[in-house]
Amino acid sequence: MKYLIYARVSPRGSDFEGETSISMQIQYCREYVKFHGGEVLDVKSDEFVSGKDTNRPAFSGIMAELESGKAEWDTIIVYKLSRMTRSLRDGANIFASLFAQGKGFVSATENLDFSSPAGRAMLGMMQVFNQFEREQGAENVRNKMISIAKQGLWPSGSAPFGYARGNKKDNKLYPDARKASIVRDIFEMYASEKITTRDICCKYKKVLTKSRILSILRDKTYLGKICYANAEYPGAHDPIISQELFDRVQRKLPKPKEHSRPKAYKYPFVLTGLVYCQCGRRMTPGTAKSGAYAYYTCTDTLDCKTRVSAPKLEKAALDFLGQLDIRDEVFAATLRKIEEKRDMTIKEIQPEIARLKKAISEANTERERIFSVLTAGNLNDEIKQMANEKMEHISSELTTLKTRLAIYEQETSSDTDIYHFAMDLLKQTKRLSKDLSEINDPDIQRRLLLSQLQKIQALGNDEYQIYPAYTESSTKGIKWYTGWDSNPHV
Ligand SMILES: [Zn+2]
Repeated sequence: MKYLIYARVSPRGSDFEGETSISMQIQYCREYVKFHGGEVLDVKSDEFVSGKDTNRPAFSGIMAELESGKAEWDTIIVYKLSRMTRSLRDGANIFASLFAQGKGFVSATENLDFSSPAGRAMLGMMQVFNQFEREQGAENVRNKMISIAKQGLWPSGSAPFGYARGNKKDNKLYPDARKASIVRDIFEMYASEKITTRDICCKYKKVLTKSRILSILRDKTYLGKICYANAEYPGAHDPIISQELFDRVQRKLPKPKEHSRPKAYKYPFVLTGLVYCQCGRRMTPGTAKSGAYAYYTCTDTLDCKTRVSAPKLEKAALDFLGQLDIRDEVFAATLRKIEEKRDMTIKEIQPEIARLKKAISEANTERERIFSVLTAGNLNDEIKQMANEKMEHISSELTTLKTRLAIYEQETSSDTDIYHFAMDLLKQTKRLSKDLSEINDPDIQRRLLLSQLQKIQALGNDEYQIYPAYTESSTKGIKWYTGWDSNPHV
C-alpha cells in the first residue's frame, strides 16, 4: 500500500496548546504506515497564514492530482480527520472524490472505515443531497431570471445582435445604432420577394453566419419583447422592427422542421441496471406499444418472459429507502462497527502504552543517576562533558516518549473527531433518506437509488428482495412487498 501523508496546522499555529505540530503529525503517520507494512510515497502539508479554511495550496494540489487520475498513491493518511476537513459537506465531497478514483482514507489516530459498504452508502447519500441542493440553487437562479424578464429586462448573457446592455447591473437593452440598422436591413431585404437568405448572407458574410441571420429573422426581441423560458414578456426596450414587417418575414420563412415538435413522453426508468428477475437474470426497461405502460422485462425472452410494472417496482424501492426502521438498522450496525474497531485498536495499543510507560520510567531513573553523578563533584572536564551530553540525549528521548504516549492515550479516549463526524453523517443520512425518497424528481431518485441499493429482485406477486448498499453482497437481501410503507415486518 502506497500512502500520501497530509498534515496541517490551523492559523493558531503549532505552538497553540493542544495542537500537534506538523512534524509530529507526519512522524505519527509514518509510524502508522511502518506498522502496517506500507510505503510513504509523498508528504504534503499546509501551514496557515490566513484563517480561511479554503486557502490550502497543498491540499488543493492533492485534490487536483486526484481528479486528474494521475495520483500514484493508494491511500491518503492524516493524523486526524480534522486535519483534512472540519466540514461535513466538504468531507463528503472529498471522500466521494477519493472513492471515485478508488483511493482509500486513513486517520492514523481514529477509526472509521469509510470504505466499508455502510460508510460508502452514507457518503453516497450525502453526495445526492449536495447535488439536490445545487439544483435547488439552479432553480432559484431560474426564478430570478424569470422575474427579471417579467420586468421587461434582459435576464442574462450578452445582448442579442442589434442591442447593447446598459452598464454593469443595468439589464435593459439599448439599440446599437449601427447593428440595429443591419437588423432592419436584413428584415427589409428578406421581406421583399426576390431576395433570399443567400443574398443576405453574401452581403453580411463578414458580420453574421447564415444560421445567425435565420435566428435573427425569428427573434421577437426586435419587436420590443423579452422571451425567456418559453414565455414572452413586454420589454422595456425600444423595438427595432415593426409588427407588420416581422409578420411578413414570418410568412416567408420556412416552417420549423418536423423534429422540433415536442417529443413523445418518455418514461423515466429510475431503476435501470438495478433490477433482477426471479430467475436471476437482469431485467431491462421497456414500454408497451401504446407507450402507456412501462415495464421491466426479463432478458430471457424465450422461456422466462417475466415482466413487472415499472411504477410498482420503483415505488417499492423508494418506499424501502424511506423506511426508517431500516435506517435504524444501518445506524445500529455502523455504530457497532465503529465501537468494535475502537475496541480492537485499544487492545492493540495497550501493550505499546505499557512499553512506553516502562521506557519513560527507565529513562527517568537513568537521568537521576547521571544527575547524582554530576552533582557529586570532583569530576574532570572530560567526564563532566560526557555526562552532560548523556543528560541532553536522555531528556530529548523522554520528550519523544512522552509525546508518543500522549498520542496513544488520546487514541483510546472516546472523544475523537471522527466519532462525532460519523454520528453527524449517520443522523443526517437517516433524515435525508426519507426526505429524498419523497422527492418527485426522477433524476434525484435514480441517483439516490444507485447510491443506496445494490440490486432489487422482483419475485412476483408484488414481492421483492432488496439488497441495500450497506450490506455485504453475499448476504441475503431484505423482503419487501408493494403496499408496505410503515412497517415491513407486518
Ligand atoms: Zn426471468
